[in-house]
Amino acid sequence: MPVKMSKLEERAIKLLMKHGEKGLLQSELWHKLGVTSREGSRIGIKLEKKGVVKRVREFANDRWTRRLVPLIKQVDVKVLNEAPCPSCVYEHVCGPNGDEYYRSCMLIEEWVLREMGRKLSHGASEPRAKSR
Ligand code: SF4
Repeated sequence: MPVKMSKLEERAIKLLMKHGEKGLLQSELWHKLGVTSREGSRIGIKLEKKGVVKRVREFANDRWTRRLVPLIKQVDVKVLNEAPCPSCVYEHVCGPNGDEYYRSCMLIEEWVLREMGRKLSHGASEPRAKSR
């Protein structure tokens, strides 16, 4: 179920996701958002209540503060561009509610293995030419 967020909360979570699992100190985030620390603290608390960030206590710059760590990740949908299903002749009947061709489908197996291989060797880098 999608989480409802204000524009400022959306900007905050996008900035946090750019910094990955490390997140940002709350003061760094408020600075990047251009809001006051009071307003920023409210955003952090709201995002934590919505379950999209974790506020971790941390000693930094000679004082105790909070680090905001995103609990959600950006999904790279580019990988779906090369999925075999949209152009497959069985696409209209293949699925859990129809014929289960996908259970023994060589095309889907090859695609999954190819994408896993790319991810393991290059992380989430640029797509490469097909190996077939
Ligand atoms: S899983 Fe295989 S058979 Fe099913 S739609 Fe995709 S490519 Fe076609």
